[in-house]
Amino acid sequence: MISIINNSTTLGMYIHIPFCIKKCNYCDFFSLPLQDSSYLDKYTQALINEIKVRGQQMPSVQLESIYLGGGTPSLLNRRQLKSILQTVTNEFVLLPGAEVSLEANPATLDNVKLAQMEEVGINRLSLGVQSFFDDELALLGRVHNAKAVMKTIELLHAQGWKNFNLDLIYGLPGQFLDKWMQSLKRAVDCSPSHLSVYLLQLEEETPMGKDVADGWLKMLDEDDEWYMFDQAMEYLEGKEFEHYEISNFCKPGYECHHNLRYWQAEEYLGLGAGAVSFIEGSRYVNEPHLKQYVDALSTGEQWPIDELEHMSGRELMIDGLILGLRLCAGIDLEKFKQRFGVDITSEYKEIIAYYRSNGLLNIVNGHLKFTKAGYFLSNQVLYQFIT
Ligand code: SF4
Repeated sequence: MISIINNSTTLGMYIHIPFCIKKCNYCDFFSLPLQDSSYLDKYTQALINEIKVRGQQMPSVQLESIYLGGGTPSLLNRRQLKSILQTVTNEFVLLPGAEVSLEANPATLDNVKLAQMEEVGINRLSLGVQSFFDDELALLGRVHNAKAVMKTIELLHAQGWKNFNLDLIYGLPGQFLDKWMQSLKRAVDCSPSHLSVYLLQLEEETPMGKDVADGWLKMLDEDDEWYMFDQAMEYLEGKEFEHYEISNFCKPGYECHHNLRYWQAEEYLGLGAGAVSFIEGSRYVNEPHLKQYVDALSTGEQWPIDELEHMSGRELMIDGLILGLRLCAGIDLEKFKQRFGVDITSEYKEIIAYYRSNGLLNIVNGHLKFTKAGYFLSNQVLYQFIT
């Protein structure tokens, strides 16, 4: 049995719920259609067993955030959610004001369910809206329509929810700028505290990826995609959203604290099938096969966790660099040097000079950061730091 030892006092906790109503056409996340809802009870019990063991292994840990992601965690009923969160608070210290987020599909929410979520301790919701147009939602294979989104938003406001995110996707095959901006404007009109704006990226094994490979669908040109993102940045800035991470915007003070931990290369504990943890310089991954994960935790004879890699100092430094550059504030060069013992400006002198001259990177007030043009090409630039 691999035991995750941790001496640090604070962590973020990620809990993976890998079930969805059906698989979306573009999805390559670890999720599967829920065929038998009674399986949620078995999975919940396995999670509870895992939380108890991890709690005993880490008695001094305090949690700054909990994030229930998936999959579709809003498929869990009140009893299941309550027992998971109660076990967490029994086994760990949840710091006052801790962010407790849950990802939800608008098709799974109603008045009662939303009230129950607040009652069990969820204080932030992230809705997978993706688009405000039914034809786009159908293309993506989502189970909800625009009407369901608007109904959910009405309920959120009626119940006084202030801290909620809407996920949107742009760059759909056949999408025009005008339609994308209409979706974005409708999203802003819903008064969310946070917006995540993602470019559609397709893996070939997904149904949409296959349609693109077979010529049935055509992705947009990169220039069009860039223009959509550029217009979104400009529009959201005008609506007083802070752009704080390449794909994430928020009203002042509403950053997602849990995700900030990832971008700041801080430690987190992942629970559930396939969940990853990053603790004391090592990455651990839980058994991704659902039955094996549940069986292992039922019998207690074996534990569903493997060490994926113990990272060298250099690997940790590169991780800190790649993740930190995703933040719009960039990397504080002095703090980075203190933490990782590396002066980035000397270590990557040529790469930085090259991308500064291309207008993609900049150094401002001791921070290395992407320019606006650099955000869109960030993957290309970040790749240079890895190789
Ligand atoms: S709801 Fe999210 S996790 Fe589930 S299949 Fe769709 S994109 Fe994937």
